[in-house]
Amino acid sequence: MKYENLVDRFIEYAKINTRSNENSKTIPSDPKEVEFLKKLAGELKQIGFSDIRTMKDGYLFSKIPATKGKENIDRIGFIAHVDTADFNAENIQPEIHENYDGESIIKLNDEYSLDPSVFPNLRNYKGHTLITTDGTTLLGADDKAGVAEIITAMEYLIKHSEIEHGEIEIAFGPDEEIGTGADNFDTDNFAAKFAYTIDGSVKGELEWATFSASAAVLKAVGTQVHPSDGFGKLINPLAALIDVFNLLPNERPENTKGDQGYYYMTDLSGNGDTATAKLIIRDFKRDGLKKRKQILADAVDKVNAQYSHKVIDLEQYDQYYNMADILKNNMESVHLAEAAFRELGIVPNEEPVRGGTDGSKITFLGTPTPNIFTGAENLHGRYEFSSVQNMELATDVILKIIEIHSK
Ligand SMILES: [Zn+2]
Repeated sequence: MKYENLVDRFIEYAKINTRSNENSKTIPSDPKEVEFLKKLAGELKQIGFSDIRTMKDGYLFSKIPATKGKENIDRIGFIAHVDTADFNAENIQPEIHENYDGESIIKLNDEYSLDPSVFPNLRNYKGHTLITTDGTTLLGADDKAGVAEIITAMEYLIKHSEIEHGEIEIAFGPDEEIGTGADNFDTDNFAAKFAYTIDGSVKGELEWATFSASAAVLKAVGTQVHPSDGFGKLINPLAALIDVFNLLPNERPENTKGDQGYYYMTDLSGNGDTATAKLIIRDFKRDGLKKRKQILADAVDKVNAQYSHKVIDLEQYDQYYNMADILKNNMESVHLAEAAFRELGIVPNEEPVRGGTDGSKITFLGTPTPNIFTGAENLHGRYEFSSVQNMELATDVILKIIEIHSK
């Protein structure tokens, strides 16, 4: 195998619980992430990295200096996140299935299995070595695969001193899964002309268009009186919030696809006294996002107008923007990745992502950052798996990008 440490490294990382915590006020959101980042720092030092920096927001930055004569090449970067999604991550036991036949059911445990009739994508993996869960946890290949691939590629570069390259910056960060990790990414310190997140899924993914995103919190204060005496007095805050939701266009995640945006109520809670609803809004176009935010604001106004006073308070804030707004005029990073894919015989899939990535934020902070596949699928749950062959390919892509860029 070209990368002798890739699989062991990945499995070692996957076993470490680094689940982020949405309800935390600390940065990073969980001490487990801090521990893991410390461990990575030690490992980088051992591999031969110099200049290892822990940033205020928990990000670990480090670099490999340019080889002799390549000092003038623009610095490029590779980024992955260390936290895992909101799913059980206690006692992760990755299981290796060598030479999968592309049709058998893979039994994870007595209750759960990976069945090609449920997950037809398994049929693409004939002859691959798959790494799965034991059915009780997620695998956390999102994004431990990305972390392992970047470190393995860098180790390869350091070991093969005959390979010429410019300066390379790498970054590992917390809290991608709760949407806050890259909020304060220090692009000045990172100082790459452009970078890549290694945080995609299926072989071939090269993502440079994402949703633009906003979130809304609606707080309703009711007038709680005994319902027997409610006529003309009682205001039910839960009903008021449901009324708002029902005034919105019927564009929800379950009935939109492709380039369509949506409204998604992610939380509704409360009682007869007070209630809160949370919504997220997604649209590929920035003015589309703006229009949707206005539609929500109008719906709130309309419901409020039914009462003698304001019952619902609306707060909206933007989360991230479609990185294509910037990348479409700045395609060097995308073209370089396309060239690397081409040389490796990988057909790029550049479909816009119905989501966001750390790269969405980092791009807007000043470093154009498209996203590249890791070789894992069915992310964020017990059915997650990765292909060793495609993880190797993702590692190849990193090295190929560096090679072409350094010519
Ligand atoms: Zn991820």
